[in-house]
Amino acid sequence: METADIDFLISPCRICPRKCGADRQSSVGFCGAGKNPRVAKAYLHMWEEPCISGTRGSGTVFFSGCSLKCCYCQNYKISAESFGADISPKALGDIFLRLRDKGAHNINLVTPTHYIPQIIIALDSVKHRLDIPIVYNTGGYDSVSSLKLIDDYIDIYLTDIKYRSSVLSKKYSDAEDYFDVASAAAEFMISQKGKPVFDESGLMKSGVIIRHMVLPSCRRDSEDILDYIHSEFGCGSFLLSLMSQYTPFYRSSEHKEINRRISTYEYECVVEKARELGFEGYMQERSSAKEEYTPDFDLSGVFE
Ligand code: SF4
Repeated sequence: METADIDFLISPCRICPRKCGADRQSSVGFCGAGKNPRVAKAYLHMWEEPCISGTRGSGTVFFSGCSLKCCYCQNYKISAESFGADISPKALGDIFLRLRDKGAHNINLVTPTHYIPQIIIALDSVKHRLDIPIVYNTGGYDSVSSLKLIDDYIDIYLTDIKYRSSVLSKKYSDAEDYFDVASAAAEFMISQKGKPVFDESGLMKSGVIIRHMVLPSCRRDSEDILDYIHSEFGCGSFLLSLMSQYTPFYRSSEHKEINRRISTYEYECVVEKARELGFEGYMQERSSAKEEYTPDFDLSGVFE
């Protein structure tokens, strides 16, 4: 991909399903993204799934901006408030190399959707020196046409399916079409990567992880998602990662029913359903929220 191709794709921008049409050469889109990648932190992250973080950590790059507007986002400082530093695609490639040199098991691109063209240029510049898997870690609001651009560079998709209900996705993330988009994206990802593959130490080399965080007052929707992915994808074609860590961050207080943590009963109902359906993967303990899940966004690793 050349710079001219980026210009074509982002002005007007149609990279994500919003297709907001912003001219990102001169302004920012609905997601908050402009021309160059904006990065808030790059470090060895120990709190992803064990097959991603391993013993040395996942080389994680947090991109600023997001095409979803989740009212409970734990990373709102970067997703909604766009904290971060603008860097060139070349500098982004250098970050990947530094993380590799620090011992990262993989390069973990967190919320990469709106920077797909710039990430491709960065990866092109360093791919001959990067011998670790590339993880595309997304909220699931990705159009298949854009995923096709980057798919050859990606080894592992770590994608959310947050909602089955369009009422919930509209209310909490301002994306009425979320389920249709995220389910089509997951189908594409699984078709491209096939069943999960691991190395001898249990680290994931390729495949798909579907994440779902159970929301308060929404366990029926969680169960509907499990039914859907079971009927569409079966059990062995991806790993399921159920998450219990919901904490009422950001604007959660605007919705009384989600302005609390989930109960043990709510979470156990969803875990039980996943077990009944025979899913393999991770069922996070229902523990108190850990601060490590929410990193300090302090630009560390972006420049040095
Ligand atoms: S990636 Fe951002 S700028 Fe581009 S269409 Fe989506 S919301 Fe708009």
